[in-house]
Amino acid sequence: MLRVVAYGRLPRKIDDAGAVVPEIHETIAGFRATLELERMEGRTVGLVPTMGFLHEGHASLMRRASAENETAAVTIFVNPLQFAASEDLGDYPRDLDHDLALAADCGIAHVFVPSVLEMYPEPMATSVHVAGITARFEGASRPEHFAGVATVVAKLLAITGPCRAYFGEKDFQQLAVVRRMARDLSLPVDVVGCPIVRDLDGLALSSRNVYLDPTQRAAAPVLQRALEAAAELVRSGATDPGAVRDCLADTIRGEPAAALDYADVVDAATLEPVAEVAAGQRLLVAAAFGSTRLLDNLEVPGHAR
Ligand code: AMP
Repeated sequence: MLRVVAYGRLPRKIDDAGAVVPEIHETIAGFRATLELERMEGRTVGLVPTMGFLHEGHASLMRRASAENETAAVTIFVNPLQFAASEDLGDYPRDLDHDLALAADCGIAHVFVPSVLEMYPEPMATSVHVAGITARFEGASRPEHFAGVATVVAKLLAITGPCRAYFGEKDFQQLAVVRRMARDLSLPVDVVGCPIVRDLDGLALSSRNVYLDPTQRAAAPVLQRALEAAAELVRSGATDPGAVRDCLADTIRGEPAAALDYADVVDAATLEPVAEVAAGQRLLVAAAFGSTRLLDNLEVPGHAR
């Protein structure tokens, strides 16, 4: 049985165990008005934008948003703008009941689940392009991808209003793009990067892992092994970016089920190449396992002394 209790001027639904039941919003106007009211009541807002099919990686963001803010919201929207025609938009995995249960478990008060028509009632004439940082890596193999991401994130942030927004380091280039966009456009948002959550064998959790067949799934942790091997090389004193790149690429090429896309060491803020490897930079890798592309990354450690 659900009880409705007053929470300032906002009602909250409470289940038998005393937990808050997330309120579901399908309209831009409703979600925006509710969060405005939350802020008027003096509560800070934490936002977790997602495409749904939520797993423990998303849960880590939702728990942090709930812990660091008085109100936490998650958005679930599979954004057509960031998929190319050849990509998996139609097949993208969905499970709204499971997503709502996990959101509730993570203390989320509001879930925004708009339809495509609600978000894009007419073809978009506006697109947010973040230059430079989007040119390489994911941007090279998916030319329209980051304009689609930046546009939908800008729109979700415009709808949400002032907030802290939580993004995973799992999609490291995306995080860098969102940070840069927020800074360039003076958006009223504090972008918070959160560590990668991994499966027991080291594979970074991803909604797309369900596409992997058993052989590919067994091969996929090679990405993390490559990152760890390169990190070990740096700890032992390597400073040549070429040597670190080779270590990443050779490890991935050693796995027959993996087709290497890129492997590099870059500046963590600009994603530009580096002349010398140093702590705080980022190791980036991507490879295809059959038709599924997986990404991973790791912070460059300091030298062991
Ligand atoms: P997605 O639903 O794939 O668009 O992801 C939504 C958010 O969750 C993004 O900020 C992702 O970077 C983040 N995320 C996805 N997988 C993980 C993971 N394994 N660890 C941490 N964050 C993640």
